[in-house]
Amino acid sequence: MDSTTATAELGWTIYPSQGWEEVSGYDENMNTIRTYQVCNVFNSNQNNWVRTKYIRRRGAQRIHVQIKFSVRDCSSLPNVPGSCKETFNLYYFESDSDTASKSSPPWMENPWVKVDTIAADESFSQVDLGGRIMKINSEVRSFGPVSRTGFYLAFQDYGACMSLIAVRVFYRKCPSIIQNGAVFPETLSGAESTSLVAARGVCIPNGEEVDVPIKLYCNGDGEWMVPIGRCMCKAGYEAVDNGTTCREKVACRLGFQEPWCFHIPSLRHIKAVPSAPQNVISIVNETSLRLEWSPPQEGGGREDVVYNIICKSCGSGRGGCTRCGDNVQFVPRQLGLTDTHVHISDLLAHTQYTLEIQAVNGVSDQSPYSPQYTSVNITTNQAGEAPSAVSIIHQISRTPSSITLSWSQPDQPNGVILDYELQYYEKSQAEWNSTLTRSQTNTAIIRGLKPGTIYVFQVRARTVAGFGRFSGKMYFQTMTEEEYNSTIQEKLPLIIGSAAAGVVFIIAIIVFIIVCRSRRGSDRTESEYTDKLQHYTSGHMSPGMKIYIDPFTYEDPNEAVREFAKEIDISFVKIEQVIGAGEFGEVCSGNLRQPGKREILVAIKTLKAGYTERQRRDFLSEASIMGQFDHPNIIHLEGVVTKSSPVMIITEFMENGSLDSFLRQNDGQFTVIQLVGMLRGIASGMKYLCDMNYVHRDLAARNILVNSNLVCKVSDFGLSRFLEDDTSDPTYTSALGGKIPIRWTAPEAIQYRKFTSSSDCWSYGIVMWEVMSYGERPYWDMSNQDVINAIEQDYRLPPPMDCPSALHQLMLDCWQKDRNNRPKFSQIVSTLDKMIRNPNSLKAMTPLSSSVHLPLLDRSIPDFSSFNTVDDWLDAIKMGQYKENFTNEGFTSFDVVSQMTTEDIVRVGVTLAGHQKKILNSIQSMRAQMNQITSVEV
Ligand code: AMP
Repeated sequence: MDSTTATAELGWTIYPSQGWEEVSGYDENMNTIRTYQVCNVFNSNQNNWVRTKYIRRRGAQRIHVQIKFSVRDCSSLPNVPGSCKETFNLYYFESDSDTASKSSPPWMENPWVKVDTIAADESFSQVDLGGRIMKINSEVRSFGPVSRTGFYLAFQDYGACMSLIAVRVFYRKCPSIIQNGAVFPETLSGAESTSLVAARGVCIPNGEEVDVPIKLYCNGDGEWMVPIGRCMCKAGYEAVDNGTTCREKVACRLGFQEPWCFHIPSLRHIKAVPSAPQNVISIVNETSLRLEWSPPQEGGGREDVVYNIICKSCGSGRGGCTRCGDNVQFVPRQLGLTDTHVHISDLLAHTQYTLEIQAVNGVSDQSPYSPQYTSVNITTNQAGEAPSAVSIIHQISRTPSSITLSWSQPDQPNGVILDYELQYYEKSQAEWNSTLTRSQTNTAIIRGLKPGTIYVFQVRARTVAGFGRFSGKMYFQTMTEEEYNSTIQEKLPLIIGSAAAGVVFIIAIIVFIIVCRSRRGSDRTESEYTDKLQHYTSGHMSPGMKIYIDPFTYEDPNEAVREFAKEIDISFVKIEQVIGAGEFGEVCSGNLRQPGKREILVAIKTLKAGYTERQRRDFLSEASIMGQFDHPNIIHLEGVVTKSSPVMIITEFMENGSLDSFLRQNDGQFTVIQLVGMLRGIASGMKYLCDMNYVHRDLAARNILVNSNLVCKVSDFGLSRFLEDDTSDPTYTSALGGKIPIRWTAPEAIQYRKFTSSSDCWSYGIVMWEVMSYGERPYWDMSNQDVINAIEQDYRLPPPMDCPSALHQLMLDCWQKDRNNRPKFSQIVSTLDKMIRNPNSLKAMTPLSSSVHLPLLDRSIPDFSSFNTVDDWLDAIKMGQYKENFTNEGFTSFDVVSQMTTEDIVRVGVTLAGHQKKILNSIQSMRAQMNQITSVEV
């Protein structure tokens, strides 16, 4: 529909009669057009509607509306009251027939569906209409899915002075096309702007399928994309006219009996994957390795076999294997090798590796099974670099004469760690008086110490290459006799009361009491160490060595606020406007002008009136946490206002708000490098938190904020949602002892609340997926329980559209079941840095090796349309044992199978829960695929 082509009155329906008015006017080219105008700015409470005529849908699922309009600036109208508006609302109403009347559908938001509030854009053009300067805006909005026969549009004015100049309603479609030797029918775009509608191609005359299925996808902009499969001209025919026609070769046409004139069916469409490579030879030279092998016995009837190398390092002391780091080099490359050899270098010295050589071909990606591989184990033999320094030492417990310590492994062990050396001395003594002791593990009990004395500790690791550097100095104090006696007093009732609870539990409580007491009891001015003794390192250490302190370990959490957050005088704060809703009250933007400092934009979180003491404490705990951090990718705390009402937390202002909604609003607008840059920032912030020993537990795109330079910062350090039992937000599911955002959370954290930096790493993988899919909901509309089951069965999210395979591989690494195998944030940062430096690494889109260890959600559920029978489909999902059951119960066509319910599945005799789940998942995917196909046919 296009209002500018109307030759007579538009005759749209108006309500009330003194609102909109149909007026003839001119467009920017001085053509006469019909417009609607309203200008009741001097009367308050305006609610003026104009409804278009009935518009037929014609099969479209998503409708686009282009509106040209002009709005007078309220400031340009003399004596205009404050209620003057510069915006209007667009609505639609679906109906199977043209039955609207003057009063129906009623003139109100429900039953109308609001598309958007539309404001004049700044990029207007200025047009002289008969002496008047008019600014014409053009805006396009879209909505869907629409499913009825047609719809009406309505424009609601609530007090603007404006003119609707032109309204054009349209939908998008991909035209019929010949590509890859196949004809694809005209296909309408899907219901969402991100939808991809699959269309099946049919070979052009005298062509034959060589790779099936043959598909193209129609995107939301009416463009074809992602070609899959192809046809080629049969023997005796050649492609002409840019591949759109197969013409018989002249020799054959003239009757020559050449061999190429006879049609022998091609073998290339055979869908078999190759068997494993054979006869692998490995030649180790210090930290390099050459691998050679012979081609697989069975190439799958195809000639396009290539090889991928999967490298895992084993025996790093933790047991299990992890994927090799990024520094390992493969020549000529790691994936897609066409030759049967590879040279691998920069391995760690004296380390065991397992190398898997996979054989894959053009149909491996469509196979539900992992590629076949042959593996070899090797051990490198050169004495390489010494291990890097141990970064952190923790105190586990202490008595008057002993301290128990543990420490982290060096980031780069560069080999197997043989043992650690611990050096310690009294702080009041010189360093050369120190004592050395060895430990086979990363814990040690140091005995024979003096009571109430501060000791300095340093530790270093040793491999065959020698000792690494010592860690920074850490200070720990033994207990005084009095402290010890009083803790014995306090623990007595506990011991009596809970004898059955076991020694470990009691020790834990003692340690806790000691920590609390030492903090409470010590005189703050006595020594620079007493206050934060177990948390800070000495002055010459890097600030990154600081450790996060949980504000709830303070007896009075207000003390934590005083310690970590600066009190800001309310007179320095100017609130501008409300920008969001926080858990405890409104979030506003505003300005902060502190004496001697430049005025800055800030976000102000407020605590709503009528709060309880506990709410105040929980609200401010976020500031006590945030105030301990100082990193460019962590939201920066300016301070708190606690001495006046309302209580506020003031942080730097992030112009683009939260990352999930920012990406949804800018769908498809960024380059891959920009997206990777955002991810790099988040990973860097997380590395910092991890170094601080802080576990976030709720890393998700909604909790990342974006500023005007696209810098992403980790935020949301509120603990309350893990503590309270409020089920109002479906993102967070209550579990015993707190709430968990299921889709973002690692399985061990869901199952037994094991929250660590490794579970944060899992969440980071989900954030990567959110970013690369521009804010898509992880696992779409699957229920939380289905997500848990799918993860348990090793399904993982597939790569988002246009996601480079290297990034999806990194996601899969973050989603390793064994948390020890997930990468560290430092590794993630350096992997992303490498990608940014070498953008070619982001070009590959088909993940050759992505189904190696973990079958992916979509890959493990094959495209049902590539099967002829229900039996084939059952075989493909490895449920062939139920073929007879399905047949006996009459489930023999995809139409009936796609309608099966859980009860049906039980009825045909599938009793194992895992099998029921697998079949149900496949049926769900079948339904989704069917819907896409149906939409092509509309
Ligand atoms: P939160 O309570 O932290 O989830 O904040 C609620 C909403 O307020 C967020 O989703 C953001 O849209 C907005 N917001 C919070 N902090 C900031 C900030 N520093 N800058 C800009 N917007 C913010």
